[in-house]
Amino acid sequence: MRACRQGSRWIIWAMTKTPTLQTPLILAGAGHAHLLTLRQWLDQGYTPPPGSILLSPDPAAWYSGMMPGLIASRFHLADCALPLDPLCTRLGLRLLHGQVTAFDAGQRTLQLDSGLAIQADIVSFNVGSQPASVITDDSLPLIPVKPFPAFIRQWQQWCAEATPRRISVIGGGAAAFEIAMALATSLPDCQMQLLCAGELLPGHPPMVLKRAQRWLQHRQITIQDNCRITRVHEGQLWHDDTCLGPTDAVILATGASAHTWQASSGLNTDERGFIRIDHQLRSLSHPKIFATGDCASLPGSQKSGVYAVRQGPVLAHNLKAALQGTTLQRYQPQPQALALLATGDGGALLSYGRWGAGGKLFGWWKDRLDLGFMQRQRLHSQA
Ligand SMILES: Cc1cc2nc3c(=O)[nH]c(=O)nc-3n(C[C@H](O)[C@H](O)[C@H](O)COP(=O)(O)OP(=O)(O)OC[C@H]3O[C@@H](n4cnc5c(N)ncnc54)[C@H](O)[C@@H]3O)c2cc1C
Repeated sequence: MRACRQGSRWIIWAMTKTPTLQTPLILAGAGHAHLLTLRQWLDQGYTPPPGSILLSPDPAAWYSGMMPGLIASRFHLADCALPLDPLCTRLGLRLLHGQVTAFDAGQRTLQLDSGLAIQADIVSFNVGSQPASVITDDSLPLIPVKPFPAFIRQWQQWCAEATPRRISVIGGGAAAFEIAMALATSLPDCQMQLLCAGELLPGHPPMVLKRAQRWLQHRQITIQDNCRITRVHEGQLWHDDTCLGPTDAVILATGASAHTWQASSGLNTDERGFIRIDHQLRSLSHPKIFATGDCASLPGSQKSGVYAVRQGPVLAHNLKAALQGTTLQRYQPQPQALALLATGDGGALLSYGRWGAGGKLFGWWKDRLDLGFMQRQRLHSQA
């Protein structure tokens, strides 16, 4: 018997008789690294063992790089989502809709929200992360940017029906900046504020910060930095004992936090609950369990789509090698990555190491990269 904490609930396993499915391989989550893995397997003509599963809460994989463009009304929904069914059909994978709510690393058994349990020989997690929440009395709607389908539904409702008069975006990183800029484009009558726990855009060069501040000012988005929101109470946001006044909706675009079931799974996790992995992308404690992207913790690897994408080809090789008993490859994170931050008008800010720039040209480049990525993924699911 095993007890796992899921939010405020404790889930006791083995007391409830749930059906258990056996599989040689489960890919949990349709994140970037898994999409790249499937693409590589198709290119190589490799077919995973019969009965292998891709688990996803949604029938499509959403591409985060294009979310701000979607919210700024620059892309259509179909541009940003990749249907998983055709891809799975081509590879003979079973696509299972659902999400992991608990995991027993010792038994390699996943518990799903449907009640189904899955025991696998090899498990690969690419389940992303979620924005950290704040303490709330539920007097205000708190809307996390992830999962994307729920966020998009809320945004569509705002566009079609009642736009809130005031929106507060909590977060100071690239995603929070892009979402605030995008919302200011699609909901121009709304007063927007960006509340950062520390500085705006930490880790980006001063050149980018200055341009970002100018853009936010230009869009009349108020910035409050060093203002960690500690609670929501009676329709107001609080920073310690300071009341920041009323708002109508709160968007959570805070830094990545781990799914709660990861830390209680028996896996070796870091202090924030992310799964510690080695350079072969395997759990440090359980070598038949792989983890990639935001849900994993590896020194030097950052929580961004760029790193998850680069892990994809190594994961494709290593999962195959683990199934066949051959040699695994090593993944080495790149020392730094290029970031292109969309400004909501088709432009973007470029950030690379100590360098920064901005303008329409970089927006055009970002669109080419993002649309190109989706186009390549789509070609693989259709061919
Ligand atoms: C608005 C926004 C814009 C961003 N723009 C960029 C950008 O331009 N460039 C960049 O590099 N990074 C960007 N990021 C960061 C980027 O989204 C993440 O770092 C990246 O998505 C991580 O990829 P991943 O493969 O780990 O997981 P994800 O791409 O997040 O995919 C995780 C998958 O797991 C599924 N899942 C979640 N929970 C479960 C569960 N319990 N069980 C099963 N499946 C589950 C999800 O449905 C999803 O399909 C952005 C983030 C946001 C919020």
